[in-house]
Amino acid sequence: MLIDSHCHLDPTVFGGDSGVDDAVARARAAGVDRMITIGSGYGFESAGRALAVARRHPDILRASVGLHPHDAKLATDDNLAALYAMADAPEVVALGEMGLDFHYDSSPREEQRVVFREQLRAARARSLPVIIHDRESAGETLAILDEEAAWAGGVLYHCYTGDVAMMEEIVGRGGYVSIPGIVTFKNGDTMREVVARAPGDRILLETDSPFLTPIPFRGRRNEPAYVTYVAQKVAEVRGVDVAEMSEQAAANTRRFFRWD
Ligand SMILES: [Zn+2]
Ligand SMILES: [Zn+2]
Repeated sequence: MLIDSHCHLDPTVFGGDSGVDDAVARARAAGVDRMITIGSGYGFESAGRALAVARRHPDILRASVGLHPHDAKLATDDNLAALYAMADAPEVVALGEMGLDFHYDSSPREEQRVVFREQLRAARARSLPVIIHDRESAGETLAILDEEAAWAGGVLYHCYTGDVAMMEEIVGRGGYVSIPGIVTFKNGDTMREVVARAPGDRILLETDSPFLTPIPFRGRRNEPAYVTYVAQKVAEVRGVDVAEMSEQAAANTRRFFRWD
């Protein structure tokens, strides 16, 4: 089994509903068995769009909903309430992506912190795992996860770009890391070192499509079908068979999201 644990199958990016359906069909043809589409990062409305996409493909898709740190400035009591109402839908397997992004600083940092903590509490109240986006927060993301006692509910660092030491902090707390197509890039040495050393029961695979297209398709829009190239490279780096690697990552994904 092969799973893309993190893609943004947003109709506004993939050319409408039919464009999304075509990308899903190409993923099936490429041997992708399941996908999790992330309703976060394309404005508050991306959550509802992700849920709708998951409902249209219930055999192969689930959704996560959240408010991305880029969009923290959009938070209001009303749209957070709407988000949490969506989180109660059976198609929703996690809250997020959420976290801190001090690279782009698209929202003021204090708003990012407040909205992140708020969503962690909502996830805990609903017993949902969380998908974390952390970029250049200098350890603050980890500190907030500790302070909010988030680890027991399930914490996944998606598109993990940190070093081995940070990875060990995460898995030491019971967390998971998800590996994107950067692992295929020429400048992906740090990620390949992480991949080589991460415990096999904590690795997930993702595309983060439409971005981070793996080699050999760089320059094109990324899509879930290309998770096959991520799986291949991760298997190569770990020195295992690609089928075995895909199976192990899929088992981790199913355990993390409680998707039997
Ligand atoms: Zn992200
Ligand atoms: Zn993402």
